[in-house]
Amino acid sequence: MPRYLELIFNLPLQQAFTYRIDEKGEGCIGKRAAAPFGRRELTGFIIGETDTPPAFCMNRPSLTKGKAESASCTVKPLRRVVDKEPLFGRDEIELSAWIANYYLCSQGEALAVMLPTGRRGISYSGFSADELDRASSAPLSLSPEQEAALQAITGSQQIFYLFGITGSGKTEVFLRAAEHYLHAGKSVIYLVPEIALTVQTAFTIKQRFGTLAATFHSGMTGSERLSEWMRIKHGEARIVVGPRSAVFAPAQNLGLVIIDEEHDGSFKSGSTPRYHARQAAMRRAARCGAALVMGSATPSAEAWKLMAEGRIKRLDLTRRLSGGSPPEIKIVSLAHSGNCLTDELKTAIRETALAGRQTILFLNRRGFAYFYHCKECGYELLCKHCSVSLTWHKARGRAVCHYCGYQTFPPVACPDCGSVEAGFTGFGTEMIEEEVKRTFPDLRVRRLDTDSVQKKGALEEALSSFRAGGFDILLGTQMVAKGLNFPGVRLVGVVFADTGLHLPDFRAGERTFSLIVQVAGRAGRFFPDGKVLVQTLRPRDPIIAHACALNIEAFFKAELKQRQEQRFPPFTRLIHIVARSRDPGRADNAIHRLSALSEKLLPAGADILGPAECPLSIIAGNHRRHIILRGTDMALLHSAARRALTLYEEGKDARVYLEVDVDPVSLL
Ligand code: ADP
Ligand code: ZN
Ligand code: ZN
Repeated sequence: MPRYLELIFNLPLQQAFTYRIDEKGEGCIGKRAAAPFGRRELTGFIIGETDTPPAFCMNRPSLTKGKAESASCTVKPLRRVVDKEPLFGRDEIELSAWIANYYLCSQGEALAVMLPTGRRGISYSGFSADELDRASSAPLSLSPEQEAALQAITGSQQIFYLFGITGSGKTEVFLRAAEHYLHAGKSVIYLVPEIALTVQTAFTIKQRFGTLAATFHSGMTGSERLSEWMRIKHGEARIVVGPRSAVFAPAQNLGLVIIDEEHDGSFKSGSTPRYHARQAAMRRAARCGAALVMGSATPSAEAWKLMAEGRIKRLDLTRRLSGGSPPEIKIVSLAHSGNCLTDELKTAIRETALAGRQTILFLNRRGFAYFYHCKECGYELLCKHCSVSLTWHKARGRAVCHYCGYQTFPPVACPDCGSVEAGFTGFGTEMIEEEVKRTFPDLRVRRLDTDSVQKKGALEEALSSFRAGGFDILLGTQMVAKGLNFPGVRLVGVVFADTGLHLPDFRAGERTFSLIVQVAGRAGRFFPDGKVLVQTLRPRDPIIAHACALNIEAFFKAELKQRQEQRFPPFTRLIHIVARSRDPGRADNAIHRLSALSEKLLPAGADILGPAECPLSIIAGNHRRHIILRGTDMALLHSAARRALTLYEEGKDARVYLEVDVDPVSLL
């Protein structure tokens, strides 16, 4: 007796497809299968099985949903079932439906991102035992604040926020809470930002929980992922550590979800489905009655507002437990310095070295110089394929585009008017490295950015060498800003705090604030005399001033007031839609059409920003146009957007690609 299986595919198609299976097809739900699809063979996900043939079907793969023209059909046979045992179950199917609905993608696209079939990433090796934190040392006795937080988290299934400066012992509370739920026979998901922190936290957790721990990170091969996945599914591993996609791990009997560094941008996916791990975690925890605890020294504006409203329970950790005190933070004006390292910063570097201690210099801009400009005619050197300036990479001898990778030799004179009064200005990490080497020929400096850590293991090698005192100055981009522990560091220099402050994005201020506070947190973690110097061209900018005063209350008071006035999140919800095409006219037409369709469907009080060119109007030869749907009721906004996108599909231009981003974190 033939059975029928219902498959969905990782394609932007809303419907499921039915296939015939001639052997016994029992227990197929949750497995992947190879199936003919048009003239191709695709791997799909089996989400349903039945004995009765589909009521409606068409010729080639039959439609089970939607209108059917005729009842006579040939249901195609499945080629083969790929998996021996199911990868996913009812819970995952249900969660994928929620993601599809919330993030406006297909259920197949959602399921694809949830399962461990991801592509291979860059490989990162682990740290060796003595290089990492002394995490396994004698059990600490918790501070009263930590104890109170732990009692709260283990006492009820609600949402908590562990709010505390770096070094206040959040990690220890997370670990104890995890222990509690593991003892109770439940499982735990522990989410961390990408790469550096994944490796560090994974190590600590492996040390503490042994084979009970499973890890996901971007360096793993597909089969490594799959075997960790199965260990979790079988309940052998009950604490899972990983970046955003670990929120989908098939943890059985979930008791607790932890989100460390909640503010971090890597929790939001940059490709379809553009989900946020925080949102997915909230949904998962609510569904299975698990507790959820997030933590950061710099919560996102969303989390801050939820705490203020009492919808998330805030737990404060106010003291540094590692002996150090909050560092002295000082603003240094770059205005009349004429150099990217002010005398004050140079003096502090020298003093730090004389005291036998280490310095971290932070600059969120790689390359040597980033802006080619002609003083005569105003010409700017832009990428051939993008609407962005090329960055001069001196070591490579090329001007490089940071968006598409295009490189060229820089012009000797202005390509427009021939003037020699043209050249690169603005400093990047490469220039600072040169400047530091020139100023301190006796000090050892290492640069850490995506240019310098291309090789496998280079990042870990550099970090552990720095930890061991192998060099004096660590110079880097945001790679050095995340929660790494470096006991020898006394001085942190923020070379230029203003980068990113004036990007045309409503989160620019929040990001700048959080970055400065996070970087400042690196100094004096273990010693009382930490020092932070923040160089800026705008010493009186309130965002920079609040960051340097570590005054998060004041920052959010001003920031939230402004967001409310300008009707931006967290006071409204946004759906960002970008139309991109090689042909600017097509992108224009598409976005205007979508805008007109949306306008008619929007609920009262909602509005549309745009249509307009995106701030990054061309990337890799694609012209980008966008609209932003804005409203206060997400459910209403959702249904308007879904309707508009469906209508748009009917007459769509196949040469325009749409990116749909619900709750965007960036509008560039
Ligand atoms: P956070 O995650 O808030 O940045 P960590 O949990 O990494 O802070 O703790 C910072 C340091 O303080 C670590 O070296 C940790 O071992 C130490 N620490 C944490 N809790 C305690 C405690 N109760 N007593 C003493 N030291 C502690
Ligand atoms: Zn010129
Ligand atoms: Zn480019």
